[in-house]
Amino acid sequence: MSDCLFCKIAEGKIPSKTAYQDEHVVAFHDISPQAPVHVLVIPRRHVATLHDAGRDAELMGRLMAGVRATAETLGLSRDNSYRVVINCGERVGQSVWHLHAHVLGGRAMGWPPG
Ligand code: AMP
Ligand code: ZN
Repeated sequence: MSDCLFCKIAEGKIPSKTAYQDEHVVAFHDISPQAPVHVLVIPRRHVATLHDAGRDAELMGRLMAGVRATAETLGLSRDNSYRVVINCGERVGQSVWHLHAHVLGGRAMGWPPG
């Protein structure tokens, strides 16, 4: 989508600090980090929200595989814990309308989230 910020980042038209990329996903550091490690993983293909992905298990699977690969690249693991967050919709905080998974690590976190 031509007017989508994250499509532009995926295409390299807007600069970002890449953490991981493959044929299906791009991961880049969040511009406003909420933890010592805060990276966003996005599908290269534009989908506005997780809900809009419908039953596209391939897209969702590729995204989660990208999350796992990104975590490994960042030194995160089962022992060096991390959290994966997908906000879906305005009321829970989604502000960019291109599906993205937050990968947060490097500090302890409470539960439930706010
Ligand atoms: P969400 O609120 O779940 O939609 O997450 C959107 C995230 O995108 C926020 O954490 C923002 O800080 C981040 N963000 C917005 N613009 C950029 C950008 N140009 N580069 C990297 N991260 C961004
Ligand atoms: Zn997009």
